[in-house]
Amino acid sequence: MSELRKNPVTGRWVIVATERNLKPYDFEPPFEVRRPGPCVFCSGMESTTPQEVYSAGRNGSTPNTPGWKVRVVPNKFPALRIEEYYSLSANGMYQKTGGLGAHEVIIETPDHQLDLADLKTEEIEMVLNAYQERMRDLQADQRLRYCIIFKNQGAQAGASIQHAHSQLIAVPVVPKLVQEELHEADEFYRKNGECIICRSLQEDISSGKRIVSRNQFFLATIPFAPRFPYETWIVPLSHEAFFTKVDKNTMRSFADILKKILLGIKLALGNPPFNYMLHVAPYPIGGGSPHRESYHWHLEILPVVTKVAGFEWGTDFYINPVIPEEAARTLWESLPVED
Ligand SMILES: [Zn+2]
Ligand SMILES: [Zn+2]
Repeated sequence: MSELRKNPVTGRWVIVATERNLKPYDFEPPFEVRRPGPCVFCSGMESTTPQEVYSAGRNGSTPNTPGWKVRVVPNKFPALRIEEYYSLSANGMYQKTGGLGAHEVIIETPDHQLDLADLKTEEIEMVLNAYQERMRDLQADQRLRYCIIFKNQGAQAGASIQHAHSQLIAVPVVPKLVQEELHEADEFYRKNGECIICRSLQEDISSGKRIVSRNQFFLATIPFAPRFPYETWIVPLSHEAFFTKVDKNTMRSFADILKKILLGIKLALGNPPFNYMLHVAPYPIGGGSPHRESYHWHLEILPVVTKVAGFEWGTDFYINPVIPEEAARTLWESLPVED
């Protein structure tokens, strides 16, 4: 029997096609040969990128030379530019504005051979700190309303460069998907007086269903109604809407669980391409760092094992051929053993 399930956080319905109930071996990830380095993101190739806006791990070496552990540079072919203007103009029913925004690349390691999951926990923490620092820095630009950080790993997931990196795009409007999530969260808060994700954490922990991993500050779960097989969310246990406000201990704990989950996905599914996206509240209007009760930041990881096609484009419904409870068990069984 198939099931229609509604994800309370996104408000989106998905079809869990239980009759198909595919197993990990039913998904064969494309084999991707790693092209030899050095590439533009390698140590020693700093002059081939735009000037860096952030680096970490330098022991006295000057910017745009080797010696870094994490390096952030503007995208060489940016979708948006900070020098552009934001002034909405309309021609009849059609609105437009200049391509204002920021588009940056976070180079996660100087080593051409490594994936994010291969880095040490402390090194992953440095990458996450870079996300936070860039997000904070861009918040000072009052024209920007939203900052999304995402990672595409593997050609099938949209990566054009193999060297481990993630990207940041900051925009002068709040994206529609984010608005929808905020709307569901606000509605839930208005009716129930609590945050929708805090509530789902409680339910998932007490039922014990779909949990993949847990550490001091985070829970990693397969959502009740995931769009894709093995879609995994990493959610902080204590309520916070803004990633910019995450403290040091929490960041260490985030790095720890992120590494574990990425390794689990790699082992369970044979190193599939994947995307992840950091979901955070929009920049507060007028700056500052207020509290927001209804929204709860989290990371969504989407292994690319199925294709999005006509039905999904036409309806925004997704057919998931793996039962979420079984997907959680599969990932949990593949987690690296604690040392
Ligand atoms: Zn490289
Ligand atoms: Zn919450």
